[in-house]
Amino acid sequence: MIDLQKELDLTYLFITHDISVVKYISDEVAVMYLGEIVEQTDKKTLFENPRHPYTRLLFKSVPDISRPFLSEDGIIKGEIPNPTRLPKGCFFSPRCPLKSRDCEGAHPLLEEKSPGHFARCIKV
Ligand code: SF4
Repeated sequence: MIDLQKELDLTYLFITHDISVVKYISDEVAVMYLGEIVEQTDKKTLFENPRHPYTRLLFKSVPDISRPFLSEDGIIKGEIPNPTRLPKGCFFSPRCPLKSRDCEGAHPLLEEKSPGHFARCIKV
């Protein structure tokens, strides 16, 4: 795919559930949760400084041969909420380790937290 991309000057929209693959194929990355973008930036920035708690958990959940077992903090707890009965406030709040009462207020907007780095979270 990368060879074809260079040869034919293609743009791909590449969708994956394995964030470790993103490093090899992407320039710009949008992380989605429950149908909306929760973080968006260039690949280098995302891998060096993931901001959104969901993105951070995705990175921790990537298998690592130097770790014999998945650590407890690399497990995203709970289930994805029913899209027809979305949580109040932040959609990730039922599963977020940083959640506080403020997260159940207004639904967070996707905001530019630093130049070119967008996140949908009131705490990062
Ligand atoms: S707004 Fe709150 S619940 Fe949502 S991702 Fe940020 S810290 Fe977690």
